Amino acid sequence: MMQVTRPGGKPLPVLMYHNIARAPRHLRVYRSLYVSPPSFSRQMWLLQRLGYTGLSMNAAMPWLRGERSGRIAVITLDDGYLDNLDAALPILQHFGFSATCYVVSGSIGGHNAWDAQRLGIRKPLMSATQLRRWHDGGMEVGAHTRTHPRLSQCGNDRLHDEIAGSKSDLEDCIGAPVTQFCYPYGDMDERVADLTRECGYAAATTTRRGRAMPGGDLWQLPRIQIARHHMLAHFAMRSFTGYEDRRA
Ligand SMILES: [Zn+2]
Repeated sequence: MMQVTRPGGKPLPVLMYHNIARAPRHLRVYRSLYVSPPSFSRQMWLLQRLGYTGLSMNAAMPWLRGERSGRIAVITLDDGYLDNLDAALPILQHFGFSATCYVVSGSIGGHNAWDAQRLGIRKPLMSATQLRRWHDGGMEVGAHTRTHPRLSQCGNDRLHDEIAGSKSDLEDCIGAPVTQFCYPYGDMDERVADLTRECGYAAATTTRRGRAMPGGDLWQLPRIQIARHHMLAHFAMRSFTGYEDRRA
């Protein structure tokens, strides 16, 4: 395999967000999936203040492959919530950053059907027009399957439909290549990773904890979850130190 490795390259934080909004009051569980717009803005400010550039997965590929070094943080948002467009986009643009939103292509313009019952809340997802606005605003659309299943439990046909189908659905929607993938629930195995690579993606992210090693495995990239209760110092510790690596 052609892979340029830089031994000792600094680990890269791939940040994982879901909703950029205030957590609804009535929500008792899973409030941690929400980061308020002011908190998100302060986190982006800190990145910039410390000399980091926030980049989408596609823009960060040379760093992830170990071909370039320097202060970058990868910004990812899972599931394609409408609040990403309303709240995160203007903040990202203000700081000159880009980010990747991983979209469930079978739920465009719908809601979080895969966990609405468990969470007790229906959260609106971006429509096709809104996804185009996200993309036209300088942001990346990545794929997150068609229906948000546990991929390791899918048969081969279903697996192909979820991974290849979401890519073509989203490419049709935004009229641009979709080259980044995210495994729902971080659920993957070798068969899932192999098919993801064969379907033409460039990299895929998991929910495994830790920072990404430049030149490491692009098919099971770990991430750093940023949650509602993380104060700015906590955000910095998780993003810029080995704190999360030790929890992998
Ligand atoms: Zn998801």
